[in-house]
Amino acid sequence: MINRYIMSRPCPFCSAVDNDLWFCESENFVAIYNIAPILPGHSMIIPKNHYSNVLDMDNDKLAEMMVFSREVIDILTIAFKAESFNWTIQDGEPAGQTVDHVHMHIIPRTEDDLSDPSDWYPILQKSTTENIDSSLRAKFNNQEYQNITNHLKAIGKRKS
Ligand SMILES: [Zn+2]
Repeated sequence: MINRYIMSRPCPFCSAVDNDLWFCESENFVAIYNIAPILPGHSMIIPKNHYSNVLDMDNDKLAEMMVFSREVIDILTIAFKAESFNWTIQDGEPAGQTVDHVHMHIIPRTEDDLSDPSDWYPILQKSTTENIDSSLRAKFNNQEYQNITNHLKAIGKRKS
C-alpha cells in the first residue's frame, strides 16, 4: 500500500511550521496538537526543518528533541492531568511512518483510559491509515484547533 501522505506535497508538517500551528517551540523543534487525537492531549514533536528520518538529524538535534519533549510533557501534564506518556516515533515506512517528516507522538495516559494499556498502538495505526478528511476520524474545526493551541501556549508561557 502506498500511503498518500508519503507521496503528498507540500509536506503537512512543514506547512504546520510555516503557519505557526504550534503551541511550544525550541530552537529547532515545535510541538503541535494532533488534529485528530487518539486520546486527550495527543501531540507531536516535529523538527522545524524537513528531515525524513531520525538518523538524518545530528546528535545535538536528537538531544534537543528529547529535552524539548520533556518541556512539552510538563505542559500536557498540567493541561490533561496525565499520569504517564507514550513517546513513539515510527521511523521509516516499514515501521509505520505515514508522513515523510520526522515526528514523535506524545500521548498522555491515565489509569484505565483504555481497556488494555497497550491498545493505544492499534488505535494510532488505525487513525493514521484512515483518510485525514474522512468523517470517520474525529477532528477539530479550525476554531477549536486554534483554541486548544492557544490554551496550551498560555500554559507554556506561565511555566517559563
Ligand atoms: Zn516537512
